[in-house]
Amino acid sequence: MGVAKFLRFHLELFSCPMTPTMLPGAPHIHYSGQQLCVEGCDLTILAQTYATPLFVYSKASMLAALAAYQRGFAGRNAQICYAMKANSSLAILQLFAQSGCGFDIVSGGELARALAAGADPKKVIFSGVGKTRQEMREALQAGIGCFNVESEAEIDVLNEVALGTGKVAPISIRVNPNVDPKTHPYISTGLKGNKFGIAHERTLVTYQRASKLAGLRVVGIDCHIGSQITDEAPYLDAMDRMLDLVTGIEAAGIPIEHIDFGGGLGINYNGDTPPQADALWSKLLAKLDAREFGSYKLMIEPGRSLVGNAGVCVTEVLYVKPGEQKNFCIVDAAMNDLPRPAMYQAFHTIVPLQHQTELASSALVMDVVGPICESGDWIGHDRTLFVQAGDRLAVLSAGAYCMSMASNYNSRPRAAEVLVDGANAYLIRNRDSLADQLRGEHLL
Ligand SMILES: *Cc1c(COP(=O)(O)O)cnc(C)c1O
Repeated sequence: MGVAKFLRFHLELFSCPMTPTMLPGAPHIHYSGQQLCVEGCDLTILAQTYATPLFVYSKASMLAALAAYQRGFAGRNAQICYAMKANSSLAILQLFAQSGCGFDIVSGGELARALAAGADPKKVIFSGVGKTRQEMREALQAGIGCFNVESEAEIDVLNEVALGTGKVAPISIRVNPNVDPKTHPYISTGLKGNKFGIAHERTLVTYQRASKLAGLRVVGIDCHIGSQITDEAPYLDAMDRMLDLVTGIEAAGIPIEHIDFGGGLGINYNGDTPPQADALWSKLLAKLDAREFGSYKLMIEPGRSLVGNAGVCVTEVLYVKPGEQKNFCIVDAAMNDLPRPAMYQAFHTIVPLQHQTELASSALVMDVVGPICESGDWIGHDRTLFVQAGDRLAVLSAGAYCMSMASNYNSRPRAAEVLVDGANAYLIRNRDSLADQLRGEHLL
């Protein structure tokens, strides 16, 4: 190892901001002695029991994240609808349903999952730009609380489907408030160039048209400006723009029962410091009250902020491959398990399961990569790690948009999932078997 390289490793080790207590996901994800634990469960033991790659979630962490919103809304007429695309595993949906949450769904499949997990259909709201007639029928039959309509064309189709089934569809129009959430372009959704929602300027005429259709009943208004938002300003701006619209719509004789401010609150991936849900909402509610909208029913659609920091993905080092230009740490998790780096160049903190207190002179700066045959299959770039084959690592903040986006690419089984509650661990999803992977296919 050259002197410069040697120094660089050590500088990184000394300046490493990640002391154990600062792990994203703390306090529920923490070192106990040398061992990384989720609540009272040692991840090494879980990895030995269930093999890797393995997703492990903290129930207490999810409930604490939910409690921050519930505190924020104490004494208000408010409904929290978990945006289940963040993590749609049945046991997690069940946990949120039992805690009083409704669900924000984006497909017929999500509707079926939510109902299977015990969701109250009246607390289900249906978002998405491409609802099919079949999905609309299923949602009407189930008696969901609200369709968040995303285009003028969808209004006509939903009206037609509702009339055909003899039901009236409760609707809210998703407005594109044209505010910049200052996040990654792929997860911005409330800017003019995005495919989501109806343009701010078209909102009033669209409400006027919708209110005249016999198959529809206007119940609310909604927006969702993006994801992994770490600043309160875009929320405050979007709220102002939404309240201006409500004033105009009601002046036109169309009452609005609920205002839905969407989701999008960020989590800590890499020292990010998003506002806490209760702190954010105390500011937003102050604005709502100041503008005399405090008595309206409020809805929100948080996804990532309820589950993201509650999960880790445990993976085993298969090979360490030093190179002239780069060193690689090849692990058994890959982009099919953890798609966010490949999709959005997203960052996950990666730590060893065995806490390393001594400065290791043989630590290497490495790219952590999976076995998939794609150069985009990376999990972390330039990480300083002291590992050898057989060691295990935890990829942190893996509770949201990981398992729900997982695929079988390269004919890899999707990982198993475990939910931890104190000292107890529950297997909530089996690892895909080979039979699971071949199911439904036919030879010629
Ligand atoms: C994805 C999504 C959410 C949740 O976003 P998070 O960033 O995970 O909170 C909420 N509402 C809609 C319409 C969405 O598409």
